[in-house]
Amino acid sequence: MQKNKASEFKKALDKSNCISIVTHWSPDGDAMGSSLALYHFLKILKKKVKVIVPNDYPGFLKWLPGNKEVLNYSFECKKTESFIEKSDLIFTLDFNAVSRIEELGKVIVKNPCVKIMIDHHQQPENYAQLYYHDVEASSTCELIYEFITLLKGKNLINTKIATCIYTGILTDTGGFRFPSTSAKTHKIIADLIEKGINHSDIYNAVHDDNTENRLKLLGYCLSEKMQVFPQYHAALISLTQKEQDQFNFQRGDTEGVVNYPLSISGIKLSAFFAERDGVIKISFRSKGKFDVNVFARKYFSGGGHKNAAGGKSNETMLMVVEKFKQLITEIDVKLLK
Ligand code: 5GP
Ligand code: MN
Repeated sequence: MQKNKASEFKKALDKSNCISIVTHWSPDGDAMGSSLALYHFLKILKKKVKVIVPNDYPGFLKWLPGNKEVLNYSFECKKTESFIEKSDLIFTLDFNAVSRIEELGKVIVKNPCVKIMIDHHQQPENYAQLYYHDVEASSTCELIYEFITLLKGKNLINTKIATCIYTGILTDTGGFRFPSTSAKTHKIIADLIEKGINHSDIYNAVHDDNTENRLKLLGYCLSEKMQVFPQYHAALISLTQKEQDQFNFQRGDTEGVVNYPLSISGIKLSAFFAERDGVIKISFRSKGKFDVNVFARKYFSGGGHKNAAGGKSNETMLMVVEKFKQLITEIDVKLLK
């Protein structure tokens, strides 16, 4: 845990007027929820502020309050660069390494202003001056709630902020089921509900936004593409670009697919491989002791958390899948039981 004092954050905020909030590549519910929650909070404090994303995010997050104000670096390169250049404070949310924002990393690093990292991923880099970092937190949204509370802003949490925070906690805990969900998480949720959010509507907006194609693609993944290795307590699913095209793939369509094999009794490690712009993007999920963060770092140029991590490879799909299949034969089975 690495947390600066309230007075240090206050000082940085008091001194700043123009603030960038940056989140990771392929933003997910926690990335967008935490960024927009902080955005609404800083607006109340009368700051000039923008949420900046390196690339686009799924449609099931585009209803979030403040969505229309988000600056997308891949669509509005110049405008984004100019806002970051004139920022006198930069928040980086839900990521631990500059490489997680790709090209945008250079723009951020070039600005010598104070940077504040709020995050829950393991092994944070040291590019920031101030940290609100805790790997035990269920989500960055949980940390944003604490951060606002630390700054004595709890009473300022309105329905917009509460809705954003709820969305990130809901998605990053897999609907409050991952081990990172704590009593504290539920207390925060209780408070958010008391703030007047409609949790049922939020669930529907995030999860019941499927297209027919997305659901069929899920069916295809499970019936045609899943390989299960019971002796190694592992399973994988792989998808080529061509296969995704057949289902008119839209960003976010394969979100969550990696979790399905873990629902097979005895399966403790799941991998999902998808071809994206010529690169193989990989997602890992595990149950129990096996640390996919270490695994992804060591073998697939990635990282993340103990039970949820990702990586990438420039090799062919066949080669990446073979590498994984070989590696699972070498894992200490005790870790997967
Ligand atoms: P997902 O599988 O949902 O893309 O990512 C799972 C977790 O691993 C997330 O917390 C994400 O931040 C992290 N992650 C995904 N891809 C990468 C990667 O290429 N590098 C690193 N360091 N972390 C990743
Ligand atoms: Mn997160």
